[in-house]
Amino acid sequence: MPELLSQRVIRLREGGHKLTHARLTVLDVLEKSDGHLTSTELLEKVNTVDPTIGRASVFRALDLFTRLSLVRPTYIDSSVTPTYVLLPDGHHHHVICTNCGRVIEFPDCGLTVLAGELETRLGVKINGHLLEFYGLCEDCAALSIETGDD
Ligand SMILES: [Zn+2]
Ligand SMILES: [Zn+2]
Ligand SMILES: [Zn+2]
Repeated sequence: MPELLSQRVIRLREGGHKLTHARLTVLDVLEKSDGHLTSTELLEKVNTVDPTIGRASVFRALDLFTRLSLVRPTYIDSSVTPTYVLLPDGHHHHVICTNCGRVIEFPDCGLTVLAGELETRLGVKINGHLLEFYGLCEDCAALSIETGDD
């Protein structure tokens, strides 16, 4: 079992949630997909692994993982179908190019201090975050410099 997956399994177990075959399979598929999957893609991949796992079980697992901040739905490619992203260690960050749609991942965010401040100021308990920056990727930025903005 990969290290990150086992950490997630531990979080599930600590939350008092049963490690059902369906849940573990969904988690494993998410883990192996680099953390970006629409629910439809997820369902297809889960059914490739085990065709007996139904749509409802997959969606229930996704709801549970969202509540536990193991994943977050995001609307990268579509306003209708969310893409689920994994929150390794409780966070996930990317820059989305608004021109070509490229998604650039980066691991470090420096938001631990802010999270701590928010907990103190607002009395909340933060267990994860998804950070999305929007802009132009390196290639598109270079292109807009060459051609100039119109
Ligand atoms: Zn991402
Ligand atoms: Zn781009
Ligand atoms: Zn972060």
